[in-house]
Amino acid sequence: MLLTITTTHQPATDLGYLLHKNPAKLHSFELSFGKAHVFYPEASSNRCTVALLLDVDPVGLVRGKRGQHEGGTLDQYVNDRPYVLSSFLSVAMGRAFGTAMSGRSKGRQELADQAIPLTAKLTVIGCRPGEALIHELFEPLGYTVTTERHPLDEKFPEWGEGPYYSVILSGMVRLQDLLNHLYVLVPVLDAEKHYWIGKDEVEKLLRKGEGWLALHPHKEAIVKRYLPRQRQLAREALARLTEEDNPDPDATEQAHTEEETRMEEPMRLWEQRMGAVVAVLRSTGAKRVLDLGCGEGKLLRSLLEERSLTEIVGMDVSYRSLEIASQRLKLDRMPTKQKERLKLMHGSLMYRDKRLAGYDAATVVEVIEHLDAPRLAAFERVLFEAARPKTIVVTTPNREYNVKFETLPAGQFRHKDHRFEWTREQFQQWASQISGRFGYSVRFLPIGEEDPQLGAPTQMGVFSS
Ligand code: SAH
Repeated sequence: MLLTITTTHQPATDLGYLLHKNPAKLHSFELSFGKAHVFYPEASSNRCTVALLLDVDPVGLVRGKRGQHEGGTLDQYVNDRPYVLSSFLSVAMGRAFGTAMSGRSKGRQELADQAIPLTAKLTVIGCRPGEALIHELFEPLGYTVTTERHPLDEKFPEWGEGPYYSVILSGMVRLQDLLNHLYVLVPVLDAEKHYWIGKDEVEKLLRKGEGWLALHPHKEAIVKRYLPRQRQLAREALARLTEEDNPDPDATEQAHTEEETRMEEPMRLWEQRMGAVVAVLRSTGAKRVLDLGCGEGKLLRSLLEERSLTEIVGMDVSYRSLEIASQRLKLDRMPTKQKERLKLMHGSLMYRDKRLAGYDAATVVEVIEHLDAPRLAAFERVLFEAARPKTIVVTTPNREYNVKFETLPAGQFRHKDHRFEWTREQFQQWASQISGRFGYSVRFLPIGEEDPQLGAPTQMGVFSS
């Protein structure tokens, strides 16, 4: 299998400085699966091409190795591994071009930092989902993508096309970026893994994906295919990428919250929500409670009035919201006794947090709809598996009710940052599945005036363990 990279940036032979490989020489490396060779088929000042050729030993690959090929099938000896670019390419790139991938260049740092015309030719790639995936992965990164599909067997055209493509990518990019894109995306296309196994794969993915993966429109598909059969790792990687993607939760949050409040104001829905949540807590006899995603502290205020509560903790990922909560509750002027009952904590529901363990109850009011799928999955485990309060109260909008908000255009959510709004059935399905998985039971209560067909504006699930 062969990868070539060509530049016409002049003097083109500077490519040798960027890669730390002299164009006049052949460079060879021994790898566990075979050999890698780096050489330059052309090197003039107008145009320079570097080639990375992998010589994979298909028999050596399976001999003495445990894993999916165990059992002595023909597949061990007849497979496409020697010919198609795969995760082996990434391993070889790491070895041969490691310094270039980190963006460092001894003699030409300025050039390393600069976007230059580069063309990469991949001969060949196996991509079972088809050509569209190749375009979807590389085009958002600014490449012009040309693909050529190969017949399964040239001698038997009637067998039709195979899943193999030659791909040409060209664009104005930094060499470092091109190498990192290939490192991550070639195994994603191939998705037949040999090397990705351990936890440090997540670290590797995040490192090589730094600066581009979090913003890629198909990042979810990329991560899942990069870590096949590793759902937990994929989830973790996505949660971390998503966090990166939203570096300023404060700013997004605030602007929209006011809109939502305005719309729900006429029915004083938030008041009804607070009332309903407090009533549930009262009925459980909870003494120590967490308000997760407490925002600006509306519920905290009501909780403080509940004398039976001895400890109230408000947690939010938005530092700005916590500051506002602190001002609104006049925390600095609160009598010592009150102050001792309340704690505000900066933290994220994406991560296991020891500080959250051991409480009687947790409330999660109008928060889950702000979490996209990977974050919601992380949240489920953080709260229901790790923190495990005895009672968990979750509220979320009932989407069916939205048609009753006159100012809300059809099909839109109540808040711009909402990732979803669920119907009653969707919420109940999610909640039941979560309770089953983590050993809770759940009941559902409506909040706000109920419409006979559409239900109430807010829905609440009360989980008990
Ligand atoms: N519970 C409050 C605020 C709801 S708005 C109320 O009813 O008024 C949703 C809140 O969830 C915001 O304050 C937002 O900052 C917070 N949030 C979003 N993602 C979070 C995360 N990963 N961890 C903790 N809080 C989060």
